[in-house]
Formats: sequence, structure tokens, C-alpha cells
Amino acid sequence: MIQTLYHVKEYKEDLIYPAICKAMETLGIAGDMRPDLKVVIKPNLIMAKSPDFPVTTHPLVIKAVVRWLKAQGVKNIVLAESSGGLYNGEHMKNIYQACGMRQLEPDITLNMDFSARTVNCKNGFANHSFHIITPILEADYIINICKLKTHAMTGYSGGIKNLFGVIPGLEKPQLHYRWPDIHDFSRMLLELAQTVSPQLTIIDAVNAMEGNGPTGGTSYPLHLILAARDFYTQDYFAAKLMGLNPMAVEMIRLAVEKGLAQPDKIELIGDTLPENLPPFQTPDAIKLDFSSSLPGFLQRPFALIAGRLFKSYPQLEKEKCIGCGKCAESCPAHIIKIENGKAKFKKKKCISCFCCQEMCPMKAISVKKAF
Ligand code: SF4
Ligand code: SF4
Repeated sequence: MIQTLYHVKEYKEDLIYPAICKAMETLGIAGDMRPDLKVVIKPNLIMAKSPDFPVTTHPLVIKAVVRWLKAQGVKNIVLAESSGGLYNGEHMKNIYQACGMRQLEPDITLNMDFSARTVNCKNGFANHSFHIITPILEADYIINICKLKTHAMTGYSGGIKNLFGVIPGLEKPQLHYRWPDIHDFSRMLLELAQTVSPQLTIIDAVNAMEGNGPTGGTSYPLHLILAARDFYTQDYFAAKLMGLNPMAVEMIRLAVEKGLAQPDKIELIGDTLPENLPPFQTPDAIKLDFSSSLPGFLQRPFALIAGRLFKSYPQLEKEKCIGCGKCAESCPAHIIKIENGKAKFKKKKCISCFCCQEMCPMKAISVKKAF
């Protein structure tokens, strides 16, 4: 598996474009291109946030990829994403505007088709099908461009997790509700990833996020662009680079177990690997999980017990709450109400998915440990 890594000091077109060109050449992507291809770029536009914050894929990374595609003669390039919250014209126009995507037009079409279709999931253990946004299904070639972040529920967010954004709007919280356990949720993510199967995944880690990701964390300027065809192994590589234990990230552990990720086959090409990086701060919500150091047959029972003992709950910082209701809209368990202009939680039925924290624009939701 070829993993490319290039140093990019800051978000400047003349620094990013050469890195993208080198990655494309190393991975042989030009050989895949034809002028009549419909190429769909799947960014991370989780919420309406300026690119100055490390929440969404930076527009200049996408711009560099589009410029490279144009140079190959590709004309039909579409940007498709279903962010957190609703999936409709009004919401997505706001997202495109806030996240700096408008500057990419007219070289790229910002998707305004909000239909979705059901497709069979060939590798499904329980997900026999997925409901996926139409432009992804109509793509000849998918380029997954994610942001490198820590994540309150999954621990890590990179290539695999970014593909959750092909599920339309508020159907995402429904999947959280259907699979509240991290093991099942991670299996679902892997099945979805195998269904979408992007041909190339680029990780924007020029300015990554540590702490309470995927939206409430802080900047970690890693100054890197990573790219690979094999996004499963790339996630293993990137998690390790962050100082995380990849085998403690359930979706990566499962990818290794299923032979999708092959960490012993990584061939690193490009710039030198940064040394002595301080490890990324993990989210407050992340469970203390020592199970990966136990024998395989003990890991699952231990994780279940530890999961209950160390369960985390959302906690409102009342003074920051503006009563916008975005948390209530995205709560799969429907246990948040807005009363007297403030969010109110019924914690008993909380499944600790932290969709509420993810969608809160005011960082008004913190994490409380049960124990
Ligand atoms: S907690 Fe956040 S998302 Fe929920 S109502 Fe308050 S400000 Fe809005
Ligand atoms: S309150 Fe927050 S963490 Fe609990 S189920 Fe709802 S969205 Fe998930």
C-alpha cells in the first residue's frame, strides 16, 4: 500500500497545489482519468464554520484537487456532502457559503440535488442496504477529502468516518440510534465505507483538530497532506501519527481484523515523517478503554463492562446556550427539548453519541463522566 505524505506549511494555493500534484503522480491517479468521467469530491462540511477553524475540509485543498483534475481534462466535477442537520437547499447553501466553497465555482458544481436512493450493501452483517445521496451513487470516480480530527464518539475521524456524510441529513442520527454501541456503529461505518468505496482519499492535516472533535476541539497544526488509495490502512497510519493507539479505535481495529487495513504493508513515499510530535489530546468523552491490551476473547466483554462503568453524558453550560435547537434536531434519542430558551436533556435514555455536542455552534455542551 502506497502512503504519500507531504509537508504543507500553511493554507496557500502555491504550497498545496505542488503537494497534490506529487501525491497524484506517486499514486498514478492520472492513469484513472478520462475527460468524460463524472468525478465527485466528498469533503467534510459537518457544519457551517469558516475555514479558519479546523472543523471542515479547507477549500484550498479542494481547489488544488479541482485544478489538477481540470489539467487532466476532467470537466464534470461535483462536490457532494450531507452535513450535520437537514439536507436541503437552504441548509446546504448556508454550509457552502460559510465553509468557503463558493470560491470553487464554476470549476466545480456544488450539489443541489437532495434526493437519495437505497442501495444494497454487499458486505452487510445487518445493514442489508444503505440510503445514500444520489450524486455519490452517480459518480464514476469518488475522491474522499477529509479533515484529520479526534472524535468524541469514535475517537478518530479520517477517511472511513468521513463517508458517514453520504447518508442524507437526519438519517444519520437514526443510524446512531440503531447502533448505539461503538462496536456495532463501527461495523456499520465499515460496511458503508465498503459500499461507497472511494478510489482516492486525501487527508487535510495542514491544520488538524485535537481535543473535543469533531467540532468543539482546538487546532493542531500538523502541516501535512496525506493521500492514499487504500483509506483503511491510511486511517491506521494517520491515527498512529496522532499518537493514538489505532487498535483502540474500534473502526480501525475492525478494519485490521477484516483484512481491509494492512498496516504491515505501508510504503511511505514523499517527505520525511515528522518526529517527536506531541500526541493529540483525546476528547473528554472518550471512554477509558484498556481492552486492546487484553487477549482477543476478553476484549469484547471487557469493553462492554467498561463502557457502562465509564459512560459519559452531555452536560449543558447554560450561559453559552442560545436555544437554537440544533442539538435537539440532531439527537437520535429525541431527549432534548428547548425550554425557556435553553436546551434541556433527559439523560436516562441518552446513548452517548454526542451528536448534540457535534452540532452545537456555541460549544455549550461539555462531557460529564458517570464515574
Ligand atoms: S446547547 Fe447548543 S445547539 Fe443546543 S440549543 Fe443550546 S446553543 Fe443550540
Ligand atoms: S443527548 Fe446528545 S449524546 Fe445523548 S443521545 Fe441525544 S445527541 Fe446523543
